[in-house]
Amino acid sequence: MARIVQKYGGTSVGSVERIQHVASRIERAVQAGNELVVVVSAMGKSTDELVSLANQITDTPSKREMDMLLTTGEQVTISLLSMALQARGIDAISLTGWQAGMKTEASHGNARIEAINNERMEAELAQGKVVIVAGFQGISEDGEITTLGRGGSDTTAVALAASLKASRCDIYTDVEGVYTTDPRYVKKARKLHSISYDEMLEMANLGAGVLHPRAVEFAKNYDVPLMVASSMEDTVGTMIEEEVTMEQNLIIRGIAFENDVTKVTVSGLPNRLNTLSKLFTTLSENQVNVDIIIQNQYDDKHVNISFSITQSSLKETLAVLQEAQEELQFEDVTFEEELAKVSIVGSGMVSNPGVAAKMFDVLAKNEIFVKMVSTSEIKVSVVVDEADMVLAVEMLHEEFQLAEETEEAAVTV
Ligand code: ADP
Ligand code: ASP
Ligand code: MG
Repeated sequence: MARIVQKYGGTSVGSVERIQHVASRIERAVQAGNELVVVVSAMGKSTDELVSLANQITDTPSKREMDMLLTTGEQVTISLLSMALQARGIDAISLTGWQAGMKTEASHGNARIEAINNERMEAELAQGKVVIVAGFQGISEDGEITTLGRGGSDTTAVALAASLKASRCDIYTDVEGVYTTDPRYVKKARKLHSISYDEMLEMANLGAGVLHPRAVEFAKNYDVPLMVASSMEDTVGTMIEEEVTMEQNLIIRGIAFENDVTKVTVSGLPNRLNTLSKLFTTLSENQVNVDIIIQNQYDDKHVNISFSITQSSLKETLAVLQEAQEELQFEDVTFEEELAKVSIVGSGMVSNPGVAAKMFDVLAKNEIFVKMVSTSEIKVSVVVDEADMVLAVEMLHEEFQLAEETEEAAVTV
């Protein structure tokens, strides 16, 4: 008997019919002799709808009350799915995050899982029940309900799989697996047979919303075999694993992208040893999350520093900088909105110089201006105008031959 954790996302449980469909899939897995723990998200777009309700009340809802509100979404799904299973004669029980022993740090909106107390789940499983757990939620030491960040049900599922020593964790969603890039934007995107934990982690962090980054981190740290597959079709999905054997020689595995990027430039800063540290300490002390940083010196005494942030943190960032202008001694702040970040990801890059050059060449040929660049061993990211984002992804997908299977895709640069 195998112990399996399955997770179904919002679209996959978006209606009563879809919940019934999920129930029939669970029924099949139970009849095949498996022990099942199932994590579900809120139905359809209901988390967004709850956020919108809060915004109709106030622009500044307290984070605690937001968590209280958003966690209700998952609670609707767990109870309905449990009922659907019981109606089929399958013994099932729904558990909220705290009933399932999901302990998190005491912070609202984006809490990290600290520990899982399996006792209740083990007891229910021992009685032969299917355990249905609400994704994306937990409880802090002081008894407060917390959430794990948008998309966090994936993390609930992988963390449970690790903690319950499940033989695997299957993430069922509205696409057939992890693709070379988002198939909703690029028609030629190709489903990958497998992708390494590190590549998937980069893709997820760089905007590929198919998996929550912390879910991948957990899977890597605890060696959880992770699969992404369709909740609608019975097709083979994508394995996320340590060694990628099938497509080893791919230099670029995929392209991730995200919009809502804003570039802020602080100009006329004094050219001193501690300028960078003072600026970024000020920003971090005020919880401003900075991504790419560029510094350039324009005369002996002055430097300009540009950095990218998310669109939603612009107001706060400008306020922090204005407040600190005297202390930081800069002349001016400007910003550029409606930008996007496009990233090519692949572990083959480490040993293949020239990948970034090829990327810049493709973008230049298509008259796409690059405004910022950042690289790591396995990725190159560029910031471009949001209006150029999809074209950039399509052209890079084409030039790096990502639509083609394995060997042919081992492009030389
Ligand atoms: P769920 O509700 O099941 O968690 P999500 O919307 O969070 O589903 O994630 C699935 C979506 O991720 C897909 O519909 C797709 O648009 C998007 N996506 C982004 N990048 C990729 C990628 N590389 N491969 C597959 N899907 C991707
Ligand atoms: N319902 C939450 C969200 O929409 C969590 C999740 O779906 O993973 O972000
Ligand atoms: Mg998701």
